Amino acid sequence: MCDFTFGFYKKIFQDVLKNNYKVITLKEFFENEYDNNEKIFINRIDVDVEIGRLKTIYKIFKELEIKASIYLRLHSPEYNLLSIGNIKIIQDLISIGCEIGVHTELEDVNGYCGIDNLKLLKEEIKLFEVLFQIKIYGTASHGDRTPFNNLDFWKNNSPKDFGLIYEAYDKKLWDNCLYVSDSEWTQWKSYRNGKLLEDDRRTPIEHMIDNPKIMHLLTHPESWYNNYIYE
Ligand SMILES: [Zn+2]
Repeated sequence: MCDFTFGFYKKIFQDVLKNNYKVITLKEFFENEYDNNEKIFINRIDVDVEIGRLKTIYKIFKELEIKASIYLRLHSPEYNLLSIGNIKIIQDLISIGCEIGVHTELEDVNGYCGIDNLKLLKEEIKLFEVLFQIKIYGTASHGDRTPFNNLDFWKNNSPKDFGLIYEAYDKKLWDNCLYVSDSEWTQWKSYRNGKLLEDDRRTPIEHMIDNPKIMHLLTHPESWYNNYIYE
């Protein structure tokens, strides 16, 4: 039940493929770039802390020939997205078809630093596009132990004002999928069509027994390890 080893991480995706899910990015979901007759598995990764563990995830995805949407922070106290080593990690993931998006902290940065977050988001998107030589289609709001909710930014703003297609919590996805997340680190959490499944700690593999048509998995690299969480 509480297996958060990379061995189990790989097993999840092997089972996804065995159960005939088509693994897609959020961009592909929001752009309807999939066959409606297929079961789809939307694969999202938020990189909060441990960007280096993406190297292991890259190997697994390359071997299984799958991809993900990966959201990266510019304001993480834990990693420097601009370091050359980290740019190379992301380039590898892009080379196998992964989508890159901004893991935004727009309310935090405005609340603590007084920075104009509209201007900031525009510049962050530009920076991502220059750094990674790709088009950015979406953002995912980062949640932290701060008094601000980064999703609030989208109460008065729309992704299209920034040349984007979506915010990861947009209702089109959130209200129409089985969402399973490792965001509690040592246990799974899930929502069906936007509603929390109380005390449901089933793994993604266990959820697949119900054969949901649209599954949406969120994982964080820092939740996963070979032998020990702080290895
Ligand atoms: Zn986050």
